[in-house]
Amino acid sequence: MSTSQASNNGKKELNAFFKGKVVPISEAKVSVMTHALHYGTGVFEGIRGNWNEEKGAIFIFRLREHYERLIRGCRILLLDIPYTADQLCKMTVDLVELNGHKEDIYIRPLAYKSAEKVANLKLQDLESDFTLITVPFGNYLSSDTLRCCTSSWRRTDDTMIPTRIKSSGNYVNSILAKTEATLAGFDEAILLNHLGQACEGSGENIFIVSGGKLVTPRLEDSSLPGITRETILQLAQSELGMEVEERGIDRSELYLCEEIFLTGTAAHLTPVVELDSRPIGDGQAGPVALKLQKLYFDIVFGRNPKFLHWCTAAVPRLVTA
Ligand code: PMP
Repeated sequence: MSTSQASNNGKKELNAFFKGKVVPISEAKVSVMTHALHYGTGVFEGIRGNWNEEKGAIFIFRLREHYERLIRGCRILLLDIPYTADQLCKMTVDLVELNGHKEDIYIRPLAYKSAEKVANLKLQDLESDFTLITVPFGNYLSSDTLRCCTSSWRRTDDTMIPTRIKSSGNYVNSILAKTEATLAGFDEAILLNHLGQACEGSGENIFIVSGGKLVTPRLEDSSLPGITRETILQLAQSELGMEVEERGIDRSELYLCEEIFLTGTAAHLTPVVELDSRPIGDGQAGPVALKLQKLYFDIVFGRNPKFLHWCTAAVPRLVTA
């Protein structure tokens, strides 16, 4: 991987992996003819790197699992990228280290139809490419406890656009829901699926505590196989000894359950305290959410030795302007 570093008015400019090499982000540009720009024919990942000051390293959470999901997306969208999951992990650590971050970051890989061909409504016989950027990233959601609304937009069904992958085009659905919710003064939208059952947030999986059990929709309900979702399902069982269920959740159960929280790489684990102007439980972050949140934060910042295998450490290189 060749490297270069550009200066931006004396400030260090971040680098991107683009068209097979590392270049300053300002040089990583696509043509207006690019297929993915017109049709959303890409798959991407959102990965967090969490800065641990004491260890002087960024801990990247479940890096390989993110690339495994990206590669599954590439299979469905016929995106040929010449890298294995291991190579993608290595390229990511190299770029994070090169960019020299000493703060929490977001890592965004994107595999996309790079062919400069429009009026071409298919996936075959179109070139693909892979690009990767890393940017500083703090809180994603506007609040530590969320006031949500049920979206008037239904979550895309798997028979319309595959819901087990993060395809770029499908995010118009998430963006419409988030826009509606935030313009109406809420923090986040909860989307129902085509059956009218709870599906997920615009960029998060949803969990409820109902009758003392932790419940989340099935993947068959059109929810994304979230990496945080899977992490929380494991932790609730192994660390809290909770019973967990993956099943359909009716809309009325959302109003009547003890707790609701959302999970996602960007959102971490965030309690929902109000839905459609009704308090959830006693209207405060619930005990299960708080216990899981504490466990989760220690793990993703590399502070829990039992789960260090989920973290990949990247040590920032000394960066000169
Ligand atoms: N659902 C949607 C629609 C998302 O965009 C995300 C974020 N990737 C999630 C759920 C949570 O997935 P993860 O925990 O892998 O970030």
